[in-house]
Amino acid sequence: MAFGEFDLIETYFTHRLPQRDDVDLGIGDDGAIARVPENSELVIVTDTMVEGVHFDRETPARALGHKVVAVNLSDLAAMGAEPAWISLAITLPEINEEWLTGFAHGLREICDYYNCQLIGGDTTQGPLSVTVTAHGFVPTGKALRRSGAKPGDWIYVSGTFGDAGLALAARQHRQQLNPDYQRKLTERLYFPSPRVALGQSLRGIASSAIDVSDGLLADLRHILKASHVGARVSVDEVPLSLALTESLSEEQALAYALTSGDDYELLFTVPEAQRGLFDTVTAHSPSKPVCIGRITNEAEVVQLLHNDEPWQLPDTPYGFEHFRPLADTSAE
Ligand SMILES: [Mg+2]
Repeated sequence: MAFGEFDLIETYFTHRLPQRDDVDLGIGDDGAIARVPENSELVIVTDTMVEGVHFDRETPARALGHKVVAVNLSDLAAMGAEPAWISLAITLPEINEEWLTGFAHGLREICDYYNCQLIGGDTTQGPLSVTVTAHGFVPTGKALRRSGAKPGDWIYVSGTFGDAGLALAARQHRQQLNPDYQRKLTERLYFPSPRVALGQSLRGIASSAIDVSDGLLADLRHILKASHVGARVSVDEVPLSLALTESLSEEQALAYALTSGDDYELLFTVPEAQRGLFDTVTAHSPSKPVCIGRITNEAEVVQLLHNDEPWQLPDTPYGFEHFRPLADTSAE
Protein backbone atom coordinates (compact mmCIF):
# COMPACT_ATOMS: atom_id res chain seq x y z
CA MET A 1 0.00 0.00 0.00
CA ALA A 2 1.38 3.38 -0.95
CA PHE A 3 1.28 6.41 1.33
CA GLY A 4 1.14 8.92 -1.48
CA GLU A 5 4.89 8.79 -1.83
CA PHE A 6 5.35 12.15 -3.47
CA ASP A 7 3.77 13.99 -0.56
CA LEU A 8 5.86 12.14 1.97
CA ILE A 9 9.15 12.40 0.08
CA GLU A 10 8.50 16.03 -0.86
CA THR A 11 7.42 16.99 2.65
CA TYR A 12 10.37 15.49 4.47
CA PHE A 13 13.23 15.00 2.05
CA THR A 14 13.40 17.57 -0.71
CA HIS A 15 13.87 20.78 1.25
CA ARG A 16 17.39 22.08 1.68
CA LEU A 17 18.99 18.99 0.14
CA PRO A 18 21.89 19.62 -2.26
CA GLN A 19 20.90 20.47 -5.84
CA ARG A 20 23.51 19.48 -8.39
CA ASP A 21 24.09 20.86 -11.89
CA ASP A 22 24.28 17.37 -13.39
CA VAL A 23 20.67 16.57 -12.47
CA ASP A 24 18.24 17.64 -15.21
CA LEU A 25 15.15 16.25 -13.47
CA GLY A 26 14.98 15.23 -9.83
CA ILE A 27 12.09 14.01 -7.69
CA GLY A 28 8.57 14.45 -9.03
CA ASP A 29 8.35 12.54 -12.30
CA ASP A 30 8.38 8.81 -13.03
CA GLY A 31 12.17 8.86 -13.16
CA ALA A 32 15.15 11.12 -12.64
CA ILE A 33 17.38 12.39 -15.45
CA ALA A 34 21.04 12.99 -14.71
CA ARG A 35 24.31 13.29 -16.60
CA VAL A 36 27.57 11.37 -16.08
CA PRO A 37 30.67 13.51 -16.75
CA GLU A 38 32.65 12.85 -19.90
CA ASN A 39 35.36 10.18 -19.62
CA SER A 40 33.74 8.85 -16.46
CA GLU A 41 31.95 5.65 -15.57
CA LEU A 42 28.99 5.28 -13.26
CA VAL A 43 29.38 3.10 -10.13
CA ILE A 44 26.09 1.95 -8.61
CA VAL A 45 25.70 0.43 -5.14
CA THR A 46 22.74 -0.43 -2.97
CA ASP A 47 22.16 -1.41 0.64
CA THR A 48 19.06 -2.26 2.66
CA MET A 49 18.68 -1.91 6.42
CA VAL A 50 15.86 -3.86 8.07
CA GLU A 51 14.71 -3.40 11.65
CA GLY A 52 15.64 -6.42 13.75
CA VAL A 53 18.29 -7.48 11.24
CA HIS A 54 20.56 -4.45 10.76
CA PHE A 55 19.36 -2.19 13.56
CA ASP A 56 17.11 -2.38 16.60
CA ARG A 57 14.09 -0.37 17.67
CA GLU A 58 16.16 1.89 19.95
CA THR A 59 18.28 3.16 17.04
CA PRO A 60 17.62 6.93 16.77
CA ALA A 61 15.95 7.93 13.50
CA ARG A 62 18.68 10.49 12.78
CA ALA A 63 21.34 7.77 13.14
CA LEU A 64 19.48 5.52 10.74
CA GLY A 65 19.16 8.34 8.18
CA HIS A 66 22.91 8.91 8.40
CA LYS A 67 23.88 5.28 8.38
CA VAL A 68 21.83 4.07 5.43
CA VAL A 69 23.57 6.70 3.29
CA ALA A 70 26.99 6.16 4.93
CA VAL A 71 27.07 2.41 4.21
CA ASN A 72 26.37 3.10 0.55
CA LEU A 73 29.01 5.84 0.34
CA SER A 74 31.40 3.37 1.97
CA ASP A 75 30.79 0.96 -0.92
CA LEU A 76 31.40 3.82 -3.38
CA ALA A 77 34.62 4.66 -1.51
CA ALA A 78 35.77 1.05 -1.84
CA MET A 79 35.33 1.39 -5.61
CA GLY A 80 37.26 4.69 -5.67
CA ALA A 81 34.11 6.55 -6.74
CA GLU A 82 32.99 10.11 -6.05
CA PRO A 83 29.40 10.18 -4.71
CA ALA A 84 26.81 12.07 -6.77
CA TRP A 85 23.19 10.92 -6.37
CA ILE A 86 21.09 8.69 -4.17
CA SER A 87 17.59 7.28 -4.30
CA LEU A 88 15.66 6.16 -1.25
CA ALA A 89 13.05 3.44 -0.77
CA ILE A 90 11.48 3.46 2.65
CA THR A 91 8.93 1.12 4.21
CA LEU A 92 7.23 2.38 7.37
CA PRO A 93 4.74 0.75 9.72
CA GLU A 94 3.03 4.13 10.19
CA ILE A 95 3.57 7.82 9.49
CA ASN A 96 5.35 9.12 12.56
CA GLU A 97 6.26 12.76 12.02
CA GLU A 98 8.90 12.93 14.71
CA TRP A 99 10.63 9.84 13.37
CA LEU A 100 10.50 11.05 9.76
CA THR A 101 11.88 14.47 10.73
CA GLY A 102 14.79 12.82 12.57
CA PHE A 103 15.48 10.39 9.76
CA ALA A 104 15.40 13.15 7.13
CA HIS A 105 17.74 15.25 9.30
CA GLY A 106 20.36 12.48 9.46
CA LEU A 107 20.06 11.81 5.75
CA ARG A 108 20.34 15.50 4.90
CA GLU A 109 23.45 16.07 7.03
CA ILE A 110 25.50 13.42 5.26
CA CYS A 111 24.12 14.29 1.80
CA ASP A 112 25.06 17.93 2.40
CA TYR A 113 28.56 16.98 3.49
CA TYR A 114 29.22 14.89 0.39
CA ASN A 115 27.17 17.04 -2.03
CA CYS A 116 24.93 14.11 -2.84
CA GLN A 117 21.50 14.82 -4.33
CA LEU A 118 18.40 12.75 -3.58
CA ILE A 119 16.97 12.12 -7.04
CA GLY A 120 14.23 9.59 -6.37
CA GLY A 121 12.19 7.94 -3.69
CA ASP A 122 9.42 5.53 -2.89
CA THR A 123 7.48 4.95 0.31
CA THR A 124 5.30 2.00 1.27
CA GLN A 125 3.63 0.74 4.42
CA GLY A 126 5.01 -2.34 6.16
CA PRO A 127 7.72 -3.43 8.63
CA LEU A 128 10.41 -0.72 8.96
CA SER A 129 13.12 -0.99 6.33
CA VAL A 130 15.16 1.53 4.36
CA THR A 131 17.05 1.05 1.10
CA VAL A 132 19.41 3.51 -0.52
CA THR A 133 20.90 3.22 -3.98
CA ALA A 134 23.91 5.48 -4.48
CA HIS A 135 25.53 6.52 -7.75
CA GLY A 136 29.08 7.76 -8.09
CA PHE A 137 31.66 8.56 -10.76
CA VAL A 138 35.11 7.23 -11.52
CA PRO A 139 37.39 8.18 -14.40
CA THR A 140 36.95 5.46 -17.03
CA GLY A 141 38.94 2.33 -16.18
CA LYS A 142 40.07 3.62 -12.77
CA ALA A 143 37.57 1.92 -10.44
CA LEU A 144 39.07 -0.11 -7.61
CA ARG A 145 38.09 -3.78 -7.53
CA ARG A 146 38.52 -6.73 -5.22
CA SER A 147 40.28 -8.78 -7.83
CA GLY A 148 43.64 -7.07 -8.39
CA ALA A 149 45.75 -8.12 -5.37
CA LYS A 150 49.07 -9.80 -6.26
CA PRO A 151 51.56 -11.76 -4.10
CA GLY A 152 53.94 -9.30 -2.44
CA ASP A 153 51.40 -6.44 -2.27
CA TRP A 154 51.11 -4.72 1.11
CA ILE A 155 47.81 -4.89 2.99
CA TYR A 156 46.53 -1.63 4.50
CA VAL A 157 43.52 -0.61 6.57
CA SER A 158 42.12 2.79 7.54
CA GLY A 159 40.80 3.79 10.98
CA THR A 160 40.30 1.47 13.95
CA PHE A 161 38.49 -1.86 14.18
CA GLY A 162 35.97 -3.49 16.50
CA ASP A 163 34.49 -0.30 17.90
CA ALA A 164 31.01 -0.64 16.42
CA GLY A 165 30.88 -4.33 17.37
CA LEU A 166 31.78 -3.55 20.96
CA ALA A 167 29.19 -0.76 21.09
CA LEU A 168 26.54 -3.19 19.92
CA ALA A 169 27.64 -5.80 22.48
CA ALA A 170 27.39 -3.18 25.24
CA ARG A 171 23.94 -2.11 24.08
CA GLN A 172 22.88 -5.75 24.22
CA HIS A 173 24.43 -6.14 27.69
CA ARG A 174 27.03 -8.64 26.51
CA GLN A 175 29.89 -6.33 27.56
CA GLN A 176 30.35 -3.70 30.25
CA LEU A 177 31.74 -0.31 29.23
CA ASN A 178 32.33 2.89 31.14
CA PRO A 179 29.84 5.60 30.08
CA ASP A 180 32.44 7.71 28.27
CA TYR A 181 33.61 4.80 26.09
CA GLN A 182 30.04 3.66 25.57
CA ARG A 183 29.18 7.09 24.18
CA LYS A 184 32.24 7.23 21.90
CA LEU A 185 31.76 3.72 20.56
CA THR A 186 28.02 4.14 20.07
CA GLU A 187 28.85 7.18 17.92
CA ARG A 188 30.91 4.87 15.71
CA LEU A 189 28.07 2.33 15.52
CA TYR A 190 25.43 4.94 14.68
CA PHE A 191 27.42 7.47 12.65
CA PRO A 192 30.07 5.62 10.63
CA SER A 193 32.40 7.80 8.50
CA PRO A 194 32.69 6.45 4.98
CA ARG A 195 36.28 6.83 3.71
CA VAL A 196 35.22 8.71 0.60
CA ALA A 197 38.34 10.87 0.13
CA LEU A 198 40.73 8.00 0.87
CA GLY A 199 38.97 5.74 -1.65
CA GLN A 200 39.32 8.31 -4.42
CA SER A 201 42.98 8.94 -3.55
CA LEU A 202 43.72 5.22 -4.04
CA ARG A 203 42.82 5.23 -7.76
CA GLY A 204 45.85 4.17 -9.76
CA ILE A 205 47.67 3.21 -6.54
CA ALA A 206 45.81 0.37 -4.79
CA SER A 207 45.67 -2.99 -6.56
CA SER A 208 42.45 -4.00 -4.76
CA ALA A 209 40.05 -2.56 -2.20
CA ILE A 210 36.96 -3.39 -0.15
CA ASP A 211 35.09 -1.70 2.65
CA VAL A 212 34.91 -3.58 5.94
CA SER A 213 31.26 -4.11 6.75
CA ASP A 214 31.24 -7.75 7.84
CA GLY A 215 34.50 -7.89 9.85
CA LEU A 216 38.14 -7.44 8.90
CA LEU A 217 38.92 -11.12 8.28
CA ALA A 218 35.64 -11.84 6.49
CA ASP A 219 36.15 -8.93 4.10
CA LEU A 220 39.85 -9.71 3.62
CA ARG A 221 38.70 -13.17 2.49
CA HIS A 222 36.52 -11.54 -0.18
CA ILE A 223 39.66 -9.91 -1.64
CA LEU A 224 41.65 -13.14 -1.40
CA LYS A 225 38.91 -15.10 -3.15
CA ALA A 226 38.46 -12.55 -5.94
CA SER A 227 42.23 -12.19 -6.43
CA HIS A 228 43.17 -15.90 -5.98
CA VAL A 229 45.83 -15.06 -3.41
CA GLY A 230 46.50 -15.51 0.33
CA ALA A 231 47.49 -13.16 3.14
CA ARG A 232 49.85 -12.94 6.10
CA VAL A 233 48.52 -10.54 8.72
CA SER A 234 50.28 -9.33 11.84
CA VAL A 235 47.40 -8.91 14.28
CA ASP A 236 49.58 -6.63 16.44
CA GLU A 237 49.45 -4.02 13.65
CA VAL A 238 45.63 -3.88 13.46
CA PRO A 239 44.71 -0.39 14.71
CA LEU A 240 42.63 -0.41 17.91
CA SER A 241 40.98 2.46 19.74
CA LEU A 242 41.85 3.26 23.32
CA ALA A 243 38.22 2.55 24.22
CA LEU A 244 38.61 -1.00 22.89
CA THR A 245 41.99 -1.82 24.43
CA GLU A 246 41.08 -0.34 27.81
CA SER A 247 37.73 -2.11 28.00
CA LEU A 248 38.78 -5.64 27.00
CA SER A 249 41.51 -8.24 27.44
CA GLU A 250 44.03 -8.36 24.58
CA GLU A 251 42.47 -11.53 23.24
CA GLN A 252 38.94 -10.12 23.35
CA ALA A 253 40.08 -6.86 21.75
CA LEU A 254 41.65 -8.76 18.86
CA ALA A 255 38.57 -10.93 18.47
CA TYR A 256 36.36 -7.85 18.15
CA ALA A 257 38.78 -6.08 15.83
CA LEU A 258 39.14 -9.05 13.50
CA THR A 259 35.59 -10.37 13.40
CA SER A 260 32.96 -7.81 14.38
CA GLY A 261 31.23 -5.84 11.63
CA ASP A 262 29.94 -2.34 10.94
CA ASP A 263 33.33 -0.57 10.99
CA TYR A 264 33.06 0.80 7.41
CA GLU A 265 36.80 1.29 7.14
CA LEU A 266 38.71 0.49 3.94
CA LEU A 267 40.95 -2.52 3.46
CA PHE A 268 43.18 -2.39 0.39
CA THR A 269 46.41 -3.63 -1.14
CA VAL A 270 49.31 -1.55 -2.46
CA PRO A 271 52.04 -2.94 -4.74
CA GLU A 272 55.62 -2.34 -3.61
CA ALA A 273 56.20 -0.11 -6.66
CA GLN A 274 53.35 2.23 -5.61
CA ARG A 275 54.29 2.48 -1.96
CA GLY A 276 56.21 5.76 -2.17
CA LEU A 277 53.39 7.46 -4.05
CA PHE A 278 50.89 5.98 -1.60
CA ASP A 279 52.80 7.35 1.40
CA THR A 280 52.93 10.79 -0.20
CA VAL A 281 49.25 10.85 -1.13
CA THR A 282 48.04 9.66 2.28
CA ALA A 283 50.57 11.49 4.48
CA HIS A 284 47.88 13.80 5.82
CA SER A 285 44.90 11.46 5.57
CA PRO A 286 42.70 11.73 8.68
CA SER A 287 41.95 8.00 8.38
CA LYS A 288 45.67 7.16 8.89
CA PRO A 289 46.10 4.00 6.81
CA VAL A 290 48.26 1.37 8.52
CA CYS A 291 50.05 -1.63 6.98
CA ILE A 292 48.91 -4.88 8.63
CA GLY A 293 50.45 -7.52 6.38
CA ARG A 294 51.27 -8.80 2.94
CA ILE A 295 49.62 -10.76 0.16
CA THR A 296 50.98 -14.31 -0.41
CA ASN A 297 50.57 -16.76 -3.29
CA GLU A 298 48.73 -19.40 -1.21
CA ALA A 299 45.20 -19.08 -2.56
CA GLU A 300 42.69 -18.03 0.11
CA VAL A 301 44.99 -18.98 3.01
CA VAL A 302 45.14 -16.46 5.86
CA GLN A 303 48.12 -16.73 8.22
CA LEU A 304 47.81 -14.70 11.41
CA LEU A 305 50.94 -13.66 13.33
CA HIS A 306 51.00 -12.42 16.93
CA ASN A 307 54.42 -11.32 18.27
CA ASP A 308 55.85 -12.81 15.05
CA GLU A 309 54.51 -16.27 15.95
CA PRO A 310 51.69 -18.14 14.16
CA TRP A 311 48.47 -17.35 15.98
CA GLN A 312 44.87 -18.49 15.84
CA LEU A 313 41.75 -16.55 16.59
CA PRO A 314 40.17 -17.93 19.77
CA ASP A 315 36.66 -19.37 19.48
CA THR A 316 34.59 -16.39 20.49
CA PRO A 317 30.90 -16.85 21.18
CA TYR A 318 30.35 -13.10 21.30
CA GLY A 319 27.41 -13.27 18.92
CA PHE A 320 28.55 -10.66 16.39
CA GLU A 321 26.01 -11.81 13.84
CA HIS A 322 22.93 -10.35 15.53
CA PHE A 323 22.42 -7.49 13.13
CA ARG A 324 23.96 -8.93 10.02
CA PRO A 325 21.97 -10.12 7.02
CA LEU A 326 21.09 -13.82 7.18
CA ALA A 327 22.59 -14.49 3.78
CA ASP A 328 24.73 -11.91 2.03
CA THR A 329 24.49 -11.80 -1.71
CA SER A 330 27.23 -10.75 -4.14
CA ALA A 331 28.09 -7.11 -3.50
CA GLU A 332 27.76 -5.90 0.06
MG1 LIG B 1 31.10 -3.34 0.67
